[in-house]
Parts: sequence; C-alpha cells; structure tokens
Amino acid sequence: MVWPPRDDLWTEFGFGTRCIHAGQPAEPTTGAIMTPIYQTSTFTQEGVGGHKGYEYARTGNPTRTALEICLASLEGARHGVCFASGSAATANVMHTLRPGDHVVSSDDVYGGTYRQFTTIFAPLGVEFSFVDMTDHDAVRAACRPGTTKILWVETPTNPLLKVVDIAAMATIARDVGARCFVDNTFATPALQQPMGLGAHAVVHSTTKYIGGHSDVVGGVVVTSDDALADDLFRLQNSIGATPGPQDCFLQLRGLKTLHLRMERHCNSARALAAWLSDHPQVASVIYPGLESHPQHAVASKQMSDFGGMVSFELKGSLERANRFVATTKVFALAESLGGVESLIEVPASMTHASVPPHVREQIGIADGLIRLSVGIEDLDDLKADLTCAFEN
Ligand SMILES: *Cc1c(COP(=O)(O)O)cnc(C)c1O
Repeated sequence: MVWPPRDDLWTEFGFGTRCIHAGQPAEPTTGAIMTPIYQTSTFTQEGVGGHKGYEYARTGNPTRTALEICLASLEGARHGVCFASGSAATANVMHTLRPGDHVVSSDDVYGGTYRQFTTIFAPLGVEFSFVDMTDHDAVRAACRPGTTKILWVETPTNPLLKVVDIAAMATIARDVGARCFVDNTFATPALQQPMGLGAHAVVHSTTKYIGGHSDVVGGVVVTSDDALADDLFRLQNSIGATPGPQDCFLQLRGLKTLHLRMERHCNSARALAAWLSDHPQVASVIYPGLESHPQHAVASKQMSDFGGMVSFELKGSLERANRFVATTKVFALAESLGGVESLIEVPASMTHASVPPHVREQIGIADGLIRLSVGIEDLDDLKADLTCAFEN
C-alpha cells in the first residue's frame, strides 16, 4: 500500500495531461490538489511493521513517489527512480556493474559523466570504451559480447549537438546482450522517447529542462525492466543519494509546463539558428533542425522537434568570443541549461575548459564556439540582445 499508487501512470492520456496529472492524485485525507511536500524523515507505525508504505524518508517519501511516477509516465516506462542529481543517477546505474564489466559510451558525453566514468568507476575495474556513436560499425567493433553490459548513449550531445541513432544503438545492445541507456537530458521526453525506440532505460539530469526553472538539482532513471528497477531502488536506498521532498516538489511543479516550455524553447531556437546562419560574423551554426546538420535525418526520425540548444562559431579569436558573451543582457553568462531564462557560454573557456586545447580541436570545439540555451523570453528581445553583442 503506497500512496500515490505506483501504477497511476495515466498511460491512456496525452503527454501534456500526463505532465500535469500522472502520479499526482488529490491527497486523500484533505483533498489537496497539489502533492504535499512531505517534510519528514520518518513515518509512524501503528504496530511493529504496521506502516502505510513508508518507514524512513531515504527509503521512500510520497512527494518523491509522485515525481518518480510522473517521470516514468512521461518516458513511457513503468518505473522511475529519482536521485539527488543527474550525476547521482548515472553513478547508481554504474553501481549495477562489477569489476571486469564493460561499457561502450558516446565519446562526447557530458563532461561530468566522462569524469565519473574515467576517475571513479574505471579505477574500480569497470572498463570503458569511448566511441563516436554516429559510426555504427565502430560501436559494434567496440562491443565485447558477454562482457559489455551497457551502451551509454547521449543525444543530442553537448555542445556540438551530435545526434545518435537510438534505435540502432538499442539493436546493437540487444545483439551483444547489453542494455542501452540513453541520457535524454537535452531532448526531454517532450521531444524524444528512447524507450519507444528500444532503449532499456533513460537517464536525466532533471536539473535542466525537467525542473526548467534553474532552481533545483536532480536526476532520474526510468525503465520498464522490473529486475533493473528493483536493483536501482535497492541502490537508491543503500547509497542514499536521494532528493529531498522540496526538490521533488519543485520538479513536479516544473513538469506541469514541460510541454509548453519545450514548444517555445524549440520555436525560438529554430528561429535563432536560421537567423544566425545568415549573419556575416558567424562561421557556422549547429542545430539539429537545420538541414546542414550532419545528422539532421536521424534527428527528424527520432525527435518530434529539435530542442532549445544552439551552438555557433563566431569568426575571430577566443577573446572575441569571451567579449561577445560578456556583453549580452537578456542572455545570462552562465553554465547549465534548460531553464526559462536564456543562457550563453563559451565552451572553450567555461564548460569544456578542462579539455586540453588539442583534444578540443580534434572533437570540433572551436575557440569561437558559443553555446546558447534559448529561453522562453520574447524572441525579438533575444535577437536584439545578440545584435548588440555582434555590434560591440
Ligand atoms: C547536467 C547534465 C548531467 C549531470 O547532471 P547533474 O544534475 O548536474 O548532476 C548529465 N548529463 C547531461 C546531458 C547534463 O546536461
């Protein structure tokens, strides 16, 4: 007996309706329409073992349960397991592995994921191969049947917005007896649903578009595999990197407008990408929605829209790029992404400064590359803001 009920997935309803209702029935004792913030560490028992589905808040909390159900529902999965951050979600997945197990990972995964794989789990004996996942033969060649347990896919990637064919990776994973995990942080289930493309599980940093308001850090793993979910709930409880109820509430609050926000993020990003493409000071624009994007066809096949992230290369030096991003007013100069407010950054100076210059060059992160997280302000103001920066 757990409230809210874990099977309250609203599967027969549309995406927007599920954003608002899945896992969030009215609270039964008062009728409160919003899921309460159960700010408690423990739950009383009527007699020994006579509890109402909750004993101790690391193990479970109703606000967290509501969020887990809603996120599972949105990804078309049966189970959601929430963590204190996207990084904690990733780490708990890695804790399902044993020394000698092998992971094939996208070569341009989120920097924190790369750092965790190479400095935390590799020394514990988990083996990693980093492969360009747009090259399917290279992925097959990297797999070690029987030993490869996970294909770790991130798409679109950061900041080069490379798009990986999820269905193809899921097929390769199945062929070699591995599970395909997809970090769906950039696309969100509003635009891309990896489970429907054959992925085994989906991971998010909910810090980004799912929270959506730059006011909370969180993560989740969703899957329909009962055994994997059991394993993750056991790890969630044993390791204890669990989100607090207030953080879960903020994520639920954010989710209620995910479908609306993503529509606006996409429309403005598409318009800015087209506008930037014609600008004389811009060497190139990277956006999966542009026909010039090398994986535009794959993106069109597996995404319903192309997201709110746009990268472009400004002509000139790193100093010019640094100056450009320091002069915008609506676009705030900051790392992170996915909030309602627009952000701007220079990967070579900020998010990817720890990547050695020659490696940056190899993977295509030019000094003049600028990354935009396009927010939901008025498009005319975003354009005017960038126009000022170009003229500066
Ligand atoms: C931010 C991010 C993460 C890490 O999530 P945190 O919530 O910051 O720990 C993982 N993957 C991607 C794609 C991200 O953008």
